[in-house]
Amino acid sequence: MADAIALGPVEALIIAPDRLRALLVAEADMGERIMRALILRRVSLIRGGAGGPVLIGPSNSRGVIRLQGFLTRNGHPHHLLDPASDHDANELIARYSPSPTDWPLVVTADGTVLRNPGESELARAMGMIRAIAKDKVYDVAVVGSGPAGLSTAVYAASEGLSVAVCDARAFGGQAGASARIENYLGFPTGISGLALTARAFNQAQKFGADVMIPMTVKSLDCSRADGVFGLKLEDEEVLRARSIVVASGARYRRPEIENLADFEGRGVWYWASPIEARLCADQEVALVGGGNSAGQAAVFLSGHARKVHMVIRGGGLGASMSRYLIERIEAASNIELVFNTEVIALEGAEDTPLERVRWRSRLSGEDSTAEIRNLFLFVGADPATGWLEGCGVMVDRGGFVVTGAQCRKSEGQPVSALETSVPGVFAVGDVRSGSVKRVGASIGEGAQVVAALHDFLGGAAKPAL
Ligand SMILES: Cc1cc2nc3c(=O)[nH]c(=O)nc-3n(C[C@H](O)[C@H](O)[C@H](O)COP(=O)(O)OP(=O)(O)OC[C@H]3O[C@@H](n4cnc5c(N)ncnc54)[C@H](O)[C@@H]3O)c2cc1C
Repeated sequence: MADAIALGPVEALIIAPDRLRALLVAEADMGERIMRALILRRVSLIRGGAGGPVLIGPSNSRGVIRLQGFLTRNGHPHHLLDPASDHDANELIARYSPSPTDWPLVVTADGTVLRNPGESELARAMGMIRAIAKDKVYDVAVVGSGPAGLSTAVYAASEGLSVAVCDARAFGGQAGASARIENYLGFPTGISGLALTARAFNQAQKFGADVMIPMTVKSLDCSRADGVFGLKLEDEEVLRARSIVVASGARYRRPEIENLADFEGRGVWYWASPIEARLCADQEVALVGGGNSAGQAAVFLSGHARKVHMVIRGGGLGASMSRYLIERIEAASNIELVFNTEVIALEGAEDTPLERVRWRSRLSGEDSTAEIRNLFLFVGADPATGWLEGCGVMVDRGGFVVTGAQCRKSEGQPVSALETSVPGVFAVGDVRSGSVKRVGASIGEGAQVVAALHDFLGGAAKPAL
């Protein structure tokens, strides 16, 4: 991103992105300086709330929270003008006279005004998604840009393969939702999932991977009628590639609470990032779940909310949570553990934020209601493999992609540990049957699959070690 105002005569040198990338890779010292400058500048724009699109709307409205969440998770600076507190907002409102359904207004760097845009519309207006060249065939197309997909992209692109990456939502996947990852090698003080994966995202782009976000892959065509695989994208375009890496991870499970959908984005959250934490300042919140992700979120939220009610189906934490998190939860005076309990109802008037949460003891059957405006759900995840239906890729009973020897029937046929039942289609990370479900493991599999890709593609681009 570059915004500049010339105050005097200026000579501008325009360097095309691919030439800049080539320089970053070829000239290591200069590349490091440029990369560092670009990253630090972006961080300072994000911290200062300057640069990028201007969002105009009430800071606690559903649309503003949705777009801020999208921009923040994608590491994109933006500026919010709230009509309640910002004089400038009122001037812009008078100029564009929005109707009630137009909120929030978004003004992009080139002056385009969008009215309550979807994430894809906003991404296109900001240049985050570009049209795919019709005749382009990538060596590898990666579906998902969580740790596994990003790792695949970094290793494959750095070893000379042409790589496309699509993600439906944001880079980082589940790890992007982690307030602090403490068990990833090399970060003794921990690192937020967003910070870790933002580095990988920059690294993948530096090596030339084409990353498209948000871009949902709807289906995979394995017929290879024209010799290559086809990924059907949400905009009906087809991305063509000689090999596919399935890195679509897992999707949050939604517990069966009758009117859950009515409150999603209005008090029901599946993430606990600084955006949601800001909404909980000095309030009582409820959090459902007893695994590591729930534990991390509870500890993080306890630093912002007055009290965190941690609602857990089972009778203890030990079975599903790491020891270090249990100790932190026990040490936090404002986390209350509510064992053997399930949330059964959400209450609030139509079109207003959540007002109350009702839960029921599984032991006594007794109901309790609490004034809770923010409910966090961390109840596990299912594999995101719906888009693979009908293409012949074998999945196990839980829907996870089967790889390696167990998915090839014919005896003696050599098969890579990460290859699926369809030759040329590989799977890495949480989506893979039997995977370890850790950031470190996902990143390792991303590195590992690249050797198999080279073998499949003919070894032409195999690097000298
Ligand atoms: C809150 C939380 C905290 C965690 N903390 C830790 C921790 O401290 N340490 C640790 O080791 N692990 C932790 N984990 C687990 C870790 O994050 C996961 O193991 C890891 O993210 C898996 O990586 P992945 O790339 O395989 O999949 P994911 O991270 O699930 O990424 C998959 C990506 O694919 C995209 N996608 C899915 N379907 C499609 C489609 N059809 N088209 C396009 N894109 C698609 C998704 O949008 C997503 O971005 C945590 C998980 C959570 C939720």
